[in-house]
Amino acid sequence: MGKKMFNVILPRFGVTTTYVDGTDIENFERAVLPNTTVIYLETPNSWDYAIQDLKAVAELAKAENIITICDNSFCTPIYQRPIELGIDLSLQSATKYIGGHSDVVAGVLSGSKQMMTKIFNSEYLNIGSGISPFNAWLLIRGLRTLPMRLEHITKTTWKVIEFLKQHPKVEEVLFPFDENFPQYDLAKQQMSGACGLLSFYIKANNIDEVESFCESLQHIMMAVSWGGHESLIIPKCAGIKREQFNAANKDHRMMRLYVGLEEAEYLIGDLDKALG
Ligand SMILES: *Cc1c(COP(=O)(O)O)cnc(C)c1O
Repeated sequence: MGKKMFNVILPRFGVTTTYVDGTDIENFERAVLPNTTVIYLETPNSWDYAIQDLKAVAELAKAENIITICDNSFCTPIYQRPIELGIDLSLQSATKYIGGHSDVVAGVLSGSKQMMTKIFNSEYLNIGSGISPFNAWLLIRGLRTLPMRLEHITKTTWKVIEFLKQHPKVEEVLFPFDENFPQYDLAKQQMSGACGLLSFYIKANNIDEVESFCESLQHIMMAVSWGGHESLIIPKCAGIKREQFNAANKDHRMMRLYVGLEEAEYLIGDLDKALG
């Protein structure tokens, strides 16, 4: 997330970015330069849910006087509290779980009173990110059912994962709280929950099979975004040209599924039919 911000917009202001594989704390240590001012995190991140050790990164950053920012949209504050782990600023796409009904675009930034006051009085008031009263009201409504929605989605997600894992057309499922997840222990350590978003690789010999799977789904619609009432799916190969598809490349057979508020049986039935 934010590639355009880091690669195009910030360079105009003389700000450069170094990307690291955040699964290893040593990569952060090696990447810190004398002029490093911010470490920007997203954990778990989109598609493969790679996790950064928030406590370790926060410690490293504090020692070097670097500000840490964490995109916490996957977990919401219900399942992960970056600030309690030492991170300076935590942000959420409120468009996702907090709004919860795919009818509002908004974001939330949290941090110390001192930092928030500084940001509020300068950037917030001056570059047009103010929220309209109606959208703010939608977010308050969403917040009131957030814990219950996440609980329901968690239950359904596990049922969907169990179904996918036993299906012969599914090669592998990626989900931070799945025992086989490469960073399962760290996920369990810093997150109190995971729900809704998961990825899986289907067995397919060509792009037509991927397309046919996605288009055969009757209830799960193809779209980006997530966090609302409806389940959504997006194939990773939607981001490449048809002729670039290579079945040997696992990523080209990757699907990201968001489990919404529907009943598990309804979703599993849909996936079952489409997988054939
Ligand atoms: C969707 C998303 C965003 C962008 O949020 P919008 O509210 O849609 O602008 C940022 N970070 C993550 C992790 C997201 O999934």
